[in-house]
Amino acid sequence: MNSSQDRDLQGLTALVTGGASGIGAATAALLTARGARVAVLDRDPAGAPPGTLAVTADVADGPAVRAAVAEAVGLLGGLHILVNNAGIGAIGTVEENDDDEWLRVLDINVLGMVRTARAALPHLRAAAADRPGCVSITNTCSIAATAGLPQRALYSASKGAVLSLTLAMAADHVREGVRVNCVNPGTADTPWIGRLLDRADDPAAERAALNARQPLGRLVAADEVAAAIAYLASPAAASVTGTALAVDGGMQGLRLRPT
Ligand code: NAD
Repeated sequence: MNSSQDRDLQGLTALVTGGASGIGAATAALLTARGARVAVLDRDPAGAPPGTLAVTADVADGPAVRAAVAEAVGLLGGLHILVNNAGIGAIGTVEENDDDEWLRVLDINVLGMVRTARAALPHLRAAAADRPGCVSITNTCSIAATAGLPQRALYSASKGAVLSLTLAMAADHVREGVRVNCVNPGTADTPWIGRLLDRADDPAAERAALNARQPLGRLVAADEVAAAIAYLASPAAASVTGTALAVDGGMQGLRLRPT
């Protein structure tokens, strides 16, 4: 962290969904280090980083989300920053995932973000007058939104919806002083990816192969995604809204020759 970022979120309040693991936990910790007061909303909040407040809710449960957002805002004394990060994976083609699985994943990955935003927006609007440029929603999307990945029809469709939702919400709320952006991580080294690798016959060999498939030769670190989210939430990004920021080690943009 350089000195211009040091405590640049002082006086701001933030809610991070899915903040008890992986990208969300790294984000909650970084926002805290940069001076924000941070609450984590998670269905299993045991891993919420030190110094954060934890509220429990499943983002698929509308009344629970409303209650948890109200609780978090009460504890924090307001809300300037919402990080909509909770999400789950899904593997398979359209023939392999049935309607129930589609509805379950879309309910968490898309409607989950709609529910938290709906509950948070009155508080964000109220904060915008107080701290112009410092009020924002950042959604954790994915390169799956635009990349055409095999075996990820449902997951990709859910993240495509998050990308479109981000752009539409940015338009709806720009004049209210609420900026809306998303980050598009590539394959990020989180417990989620650890769980996937653990299913392989040889997890270490699978990890080495996964690293080798990345343009950088390694996975994206959760801290690197958190840094992008913190930037989008910071005063330095006061003119940034309706943007998808890729943090993917070049996965999407580079066209490397096969070696
Ligand atoms: P993770 O599994 O390590 O952490 C996810 C967190 O979200 C956990 O704390 C979990 O308890 C919580 N959560 C999950 N479902 C929830 C629900 N219904 N209600 C409340 N909390 C819930 O995962 P991660 O890798 O850190 O992923 C976080 C986000 O990043 C997700 O939206 C994911 O789609 C996105 N993403 C991850 C990667 C990657 O490679 N890891 C890549 C692109 C995008």
